[in-house]
Amino acid sequence: MENKVVKFGGSSLASAAQFEKVGAIIRKDKSRRYVIPSAPGKRTPDDTKVTDMLYSCYGHAILAYDDEEKDEQMECFEELLMLIKARYQSIIDGLGLSISLDKEFSVIRQNFLAKIGRDYAASRGEYLNGKILAEYLGYTFIDAAEVIFFDDNGNFDAETTDRVLSERLAKVERAVIPGFYGSKADGSVKTFSRGGSDITGSIVAKAVHAEMYENWTDVSGFLITDPRVIDNPKPIDVITYRELRELSYMGATVLHEDAIFPVRKEGIPINIRNTNAPEDKGTLIVEATCQKPRFTITGIAGKKDFASITVEKAMMNAEVGFCRKVLEVFEENHVCIEHMPSGIDTMTIFVHGEEFEEKEQNVISGIHRAVSPDVLELESDLALIAVVGRGMRATRGTSGRIFSALAHANINVRMIDQGSSELNIIIGVSNHDFEGAIKAIYDIFVNTQI
Ligand code: ASP
Repeated sequence: MENKVVKFGGSSLASAAQFEKVGAIIRKDKSRRYVIPSAPGKRTPDDTKVTDMLYSCYGHAILAYDDEEKDEQMECFEELLMLIKARYQSIIDGLGLSISLDKEFSVIRQNFLAKIGRDYAASRGEYLNGKILAEYLGYTFIDAAEVIFFDDNGNFDAETTDRVLSERLAKVERAVIPGFYGSKADGSVKTFSRGGSDITGSIVAKAVHAEMYENWTDVSGFLITDPRVIDNPKPIDVITYRELRELSYMGATVLHEDAIFPVRKEGIPINIRNTNAPEDKGTLIVEATCQKPRFTITGIAGKKDFASITVEKAMMNAEVGFCRKVLEVFEENHVCIEHMPSGIDTMTIFVHGEEFEEKEQNVISGIHRAVSPDVLELESDLALIAVVGRGMRATRGTSGRIFSALAHANINVRMIDQGSSELNIIIGVSNHDFEGAIKAIYDIFVNTQI
């Protein structure tokens, strides 16, 4: 039987009205057999996600134990728990369901007060939403704690999970499996990092050899660039996993980064879709494709606030171990290196400005001691922009076009680094040129359509 795994994010399941949209989407395609819900998210921009409410509710439960303001904390705890229950109740009522969560909430209350753990607390958001969704759809509910496993160190145990999950789901035609959490061997609940329901969806898709992993959210897929920089940027129809990695590293976020690995291993495509605009095709994320990209570039992303350290020494290339000695200084000071373009007698190291600031003087003296440079120069307030696209390899003159567009816009390029895979070109500019540079690049590749 055909099968798709469908994951719905928090805003897709924030209210009864959103549940109805989700129900319609699932009923429309019989192959949508395994459903992964998030916890209810924000209904309006200033609303609070249930996961955040659970974290703070648990925080009050902990303080109610050993704080002097025990009574006050207890009061806050009870109040928040009631508010959380009310959010679920309004979904149940809005959908006209008759299930009661009284028993669930009395167990949750007891467990919170017994200080069972922060991860358990957060996981209840998905758990309860899963219960309601299963009831609403008439699907089997499977507690993620029974099928998703972590080892004693809290790392995801892919092997055990895949075995147990695939055996279990082989016997169940349609199921709801809450996202975000699983359990350790001692039975305690463990969550992934925030946004982790995306990972659960990917793990389930792998286990059932799904033909597609649909990830439903509140945007119609990835856009070529940040809509805060360009008004209404065009959507990306198809993107490869590698391109996506490059773009998400530079700050494009729609999907949890770790969600790519399980499906990628199996060659299962991910389709990002919009619950509020289900007719939109969204973005398809694939391992490889012969489909020609619509534009030479697939996407543009970037980040501000980098600093650069340029080390100059005549004949440095003749000195064995020169680069290693410089890099060791960064390692010893626990500074991550982001990029490292080099010249004949220079090497430049890009680091995150904020992280570097406090270690700056230690790094400078360390480099002096290590390699006695002729010149050591620091620059801050730099932005890096990644222009990514599988189409660039086959197109001559891409970097030329980028630079003439930037020159026309009067933007000084401080650094250029073309990845050897020809999948991306990284450009360094001043922070204050960041938006202008993205606009110029977008314009030349998308608006002029060549
Ligand atoms: N509910 C969790 C969070 O808010 C996980 C998720 O939504 O994917 O981070």
